[in-house]
Amino acid sequence: MTAKLIKGKELRQEILAEIEAEVKKIKEEYGVVPGLVTILVGEDPASVSYVTGKIKTAKRLGFKEVQVNMPESISEQELLALVDQYNRDDTIHGVLVQLPLPRHIDENRVIDAIDPDKDVDGFHPVNLGRLMIGGSVVKFPPCTPSGIQEMIRRAGIETEGAEVVVVGRSNIVGKPVANMLLQKEPGANSTVTVVHTRTKDLASHCKRADILIVAAGVPGLVKPEWIKPGACVIDVGVNRVGEKISEKTGRKVAILKGDVDFEAAKEIAGWITPVPGGVGPMTITMLMKNTLNSLKFRLGIS
Ligand code: NAP
Repeated sequence: MTAKLIKGKELRQEILAEIEAEVKKIKEEYGVVPGLVTILVGEDPASVSYVTGKIKTAKRLGFKEVQVNMPESISEQELLALVDQYNRDDTIHGVLVQLPLPRHIDENRVIDAIDPDKDVDGFHPVNLGRLMIGGSVVKFPPCTPSGIQEMIRRAGIETEGAEVVVVGRSNIVGKPVANMLLQKEPGANSTVTVVHTRTKDLASHCKRADILIVAAGVPGLVKPEWIKPGACVIDVGVNRVGEKISEKTGRKVAILKGDVDFEAAKEIAGWITPVPGGVGPMTITMLMKNTLNSLKFRLGIS
């Protein structure tokens, strides 16, 4: 079997076009556009690259985008004051603080300080609580999990009654995606198992999965023999395993690998996401969707 590829890169174009059209319509009718502020602390290359991607996409969609770069030495108090400034700015509908933060800053305190109605990353405890309840109270589902659910939905994969196994239990991927897929609602209704480093016999759980979602951060963790023939495999892992010279730019770029042995797995799975070009592009896309929705909630048109 050769699996069908679920290409986040292509789905992204489809969804961004939908968002762009809505932004235009809202601008014409109400004279406002979604506003997103990205707050970056320090110069970690991965964080710089993520923030650059977010800003570029926001610009392309016609959002108001504000980019704030602060030095690594910023104090927690100063950062909290900055968050508060944008919480109170009516032209801003999404406040995003790029994680991770330097060690001297308490990440949870910063996330708690973001107005839950502008928390477009969906990491605030209020939004994670709403996610747990499910249904219409959910405002901002975290971006990577909602990107995964959207990929599964748009690929036409049945989730109702499906055995879903999630490898990894982080607060940003594993736990929220598991929670989303077990909700009693369309695009979910699955039987969900979450596995982690303390799980006995990881392989036996993975082998049961109709939908296998892997977010461990361990290159090649999932072996082809762990995959049920015909299963849908969503590989969230992004692991830098070396460097190469880009043919396009002539510059050094990272070689990225997922958590699944892609070449072998694609001969067994029914659907599979590539790395790169799979889940990655969906995360920024869903961030844009959350920011647009934030404006729509404000206008009372959602
Ligand atoms: P994380 O916070 O490090 O969590 C990893 C999880 O995987 C933990 O729950 C850990 O178990 C589990 N795990 C690690 N090794 C394992 C093993 N050998 N067997 C079973 N479970 C194992 O990671 P994360 O933030 O969720 O990210 C996971 C991966 O996804 C990373 O490669 C990251 O770069 C990628 N990612 C991609 C996107 C995107 O594409 N947009 C977004 C976010 C993350 P314990 O809890 O027991 O330690």
